[in-house]
Amino acid sequence: MEKSKWKVYPLVVGEAEVGKVLDVFWSLTKDNSKVTVPIMAWLLIPQGEGDPILVDTGFRDAQRCEEVHGLGPHRTKPEWSLEEQLGKHGLALEDIKTVILTHLHYDHAGGCAQFSNAKFIIQRSELQAAAAPLASSFLEIGGGSLFYDRKDIAELIDPLWTQVELIEGDVEVAPGIQCVLYSNTHTPGSQAVYVNTGNGTAIILGDIARNVELNVNQGIPPGLFYDLEATYRAMNRIKKDGDFILPSHDYEVVKEYQSGLPK
Ligand SMILES: [Zn+2]
Repeated sequence: MEKSKWKVYPLVVGEAEVGKVLDVFWSLTKDNSKVTVPIMAWLLIPQGEGDPILVDTGFRDAQRCEEVHGLGPHRTKPEWSLEEQLGKHGLALEDIKTVILTHLHYDHAGGCAQFSNAKFIIQRSELQAAAAPLASSFLEIGGGSLFYDRKDIAELIDPLWTQVELIEGDVEVAPGIQCVLYSNTHTPGSQAVYVNTGNGTAIILGDIARNVELNVNQGIPPGLFYDLEATYRAMNRIKKDGDFILPSHDYEVVKEYQSGLPK
């Protein structure tokens, strides 16, 4: 049987000003500049039978990002809301029955409550790490819980708990869509989403890598990771497995694929 094919649409759901150090292994860069990055979700539309899938849900509110996590300015616009963006594809929030969360950081798991009909596919190790993060309270950014927002985690545990589907390891969640666990890379339970586009495999990375050229092509780890060796191995594997590599904070990727992938 032929594998199901999907079209991938990048959705910008917010914007943030962050230190460029997040792109490059902390101790090995002298670049102290700031960059403006998109906060993204991804819409997967089947090219045939089946329901659309959303990957990630953006952040809760801009002010909270700055106050709780000690980060720079965050912005939203009405036209960046998930409701508006799904609307452009003829979809309502209630039409989304599956949301895959790459990881549970505030800028990926902040908008889950909007999806009353969705199940949320999360790696068990990620929910565990997010609920009880191993983090120093002395770090200046990250809010003492390394970018997990307790409000998001509390929401998933209750009232959204009956919608949560925990997985462990690599799982095909729909024909042509596979969640692949990359333990202890950007977070303990980060997962990438492998999408069969019919024209190669697109890999939605979450934040396992932030910048394709630096992190994947040049193999320089990004600024935030748990295990350096796991991160090196992830960069190598992603480079091998992916025909289209889609990190979540890179405006170049948005520009390149704004009208959908494959083109
Ligand atoms: Zn992120």
